[in-house]
Amino acid sequence: MNETKAREAICEIGASIFNRGLTAGSSGNISLRIDGGWLMTPTNASLGRLDPARLSKLDDSLRLVAGDAPTKESFLHRVMYEEQAGTGAVVHLHSTHSVAVSCLAEVDPADVLPPITAYYVMRVGHLPLVPYYRPGDMALAEAVRGFAGKHHAVLLANHGPVVAGASLDAAVNAIEELEETARLYLLLRGAKTRFLSPTQVKELLP
Ligand SMILES: [Zn+2]
Repeated sequence: MNETKAREAICEIGASIFNRGLTAGSSGNISLRIDGGWLMTPTNASLGRLDPARLSKLDDSLRLVAGDAPTKESFLHRVMYEEQAGTGAVVHLHSTHSVAVSCLAEVDPADVLPPITAYYVMRVGHLPLVPYYRPGDMALAEAVRGFAGKHHAVLLANHGPVVAGASLDAAVNAIEELEETARLYLLLRGAKTRFLSPTQVKELLP
């Protein structure tokens, strides 16, 4: 994908995410690997109104070379690229149902959501909960790093999901699957539910 197309893809997907209410205000950020560096959504920018010409362009050492200053959460993206081999894009959202699940007291922090559907297992797999840190605390980067080698998707407590993918489409599809599964989980809470069995999960995982 050339840089012009990459810029357009980020803005198109950002608008789609925002217009469907999957992240609100100026929350959420997207990054995409390009030749020689990254494109990233700027700080304080709404995903609903991104300008392709103003996206942050970062070089290989994550220095800003063009566009507006990148999101203050760029460290979340950096850690995923560093720890997950083959990452081509990273998406982070404050999507309502995922955030709601990230606040529940009794979830298993090693794997927050149960295997409700096959698509969730295939696109997300196991989802660890990263402990809460206040905005700007760089200890969050190191906490995410502790999981990012083994997991392409993590859920930040009282905050939201971060998902890496080989492509922008893969990352977006996975984070949307995660959000839908969080919604299903909340719908099913309190009802006797048949989740996929360990054997059913095993045959879906790589
Ligand atoms: Zn955030």
